[in-house]
Amino acid sequence: MRDTSVYVHFPWCAKKCPYCDFATRKIDVATLPHEAYADALLRELEVRRGALRGRRLTSVFFGGGTPSLWSGAALGRVLAAIRGAFEEESEALEITAESNPNSLTRARAAAFAEAGVGRLSLGVQSLDDARLRFLGRLHDRTEALTALGHAAAAVERVSADLMFGMPGQSADDLAREIDQLLEAGVRHVSAYALTIEPGTQFGELHRLGKLRVAEEEAYAQMFERAERAFEAAGFAHYEVSNYAQPGEEARHNLHYWRGGDYLGLGAAAVGCLSEADGGARRWKNTVDAGRYMEALGEEESETLGPQDRIREGLMLGLRMAEGVDGAALSARAGVDWRRGREAALARRLERGDVVLEGERLRVPRERWLLLDGIVADLF
Ligand code: SF4
Repeated sequence: MRDTSVYVHFPWCAKKCPYCDFATRKIDVATLPHEAYADALLRELEVRRGALRGRRLTSVFFGGGTPSLWSGAALGRVLAAIRGAFEEESEALEITAESNPNSLTRARAAAFAEAGVGRLSLGVQSLDDARLRFLGRLHDRTEALTALGHAAAAVERVSADLMFGMPGQSADDLAREIDQLLEAGVRHVSAYALTIEPGTQFGELHRLGKLRVAEEEAYAQMFERAERAFEAAGFAHYEVSNYAQPGEEARHNLHYWRGGDYLGLGAAAVGCLSEADGGARRWKNTVDAGRYMEALGEEESETLGPQDRIREGLMLGLRMAEGVDGAALSARAGVDWRRGREAALARRLERGDVVLEGERLRVPRERWLLLDGIVADLF
């Protein structure tokens, strides 16, 4: 049985945030096609059922977009069908739904839990009202804390997303927000730097010189301060952007970073499944939700060769504190991952940018701010 996770994309939000380049569109919530979208997902699952033979389900992640806009009944119908499509499921099956504070009502959290969701990941982003306004979010600090309470009352595991690197934000400001978030009982936090993406409202403002972002030095200070604040509270910095109390790591994400197979369902969803010949096929579904509901369909599909799999394995695996299992990576790709990288590897080992312990390659935490350059060198 090959361990496989499932990602379900919910492609709508009540409002498009000005920094967001995810595949999601604003929708009038009253017109959401709750059941029609679930029907389309079930049709896609049926089409892909053959590829699920010999696979064990390890996690399901409802992401978006804003899955907490979806009715519990529709989400539950999809979840039950996914679980029914696998021959086996892991005893540690993890089922997560991303949620936004303004749509995660007490009733919605309870309905998700009733449907089988055991982990809620909340897009808190900040606990400072001015910064939430700057980010164009629909909730304020009080609503974020209320939603965290609803989540904790419904499910055992609650995670929060936090953004940093806003103009004018100091490392002390960030540390205060982290302390407040931890006081609310969160046991897993994804802390991301604000990045300016082309094609977004912030991207346009930045291009026109009307939006400043944090300087690299300020970003580095915030990154390091966040690490200290989380570690003081007993959280491990287990991936560049993720912190968890022991046992609270996101199993779905770990599976992905370790190069595991995943099925993507829904508009704009990406999937990647190993094939019998040692290769893997990665695809991306039609991005347009209307077209997806009418006819499903893939927008892109590619076969990953051995070097693609090695590059991806290094890029994702080196983001984790545990690093990359080189033996597993070579086995997955069918060739030794070191081949052709001997000089770059020797150079980075010499500088202390990477450490090789047996078959495991990792980037020491004090070098994580240099990660992009290190990975590019090993490509
Ligand atoms: S709620 Fe999340 S997915 Fe939706 S637009 Fe905002 S950042 Fe993007």
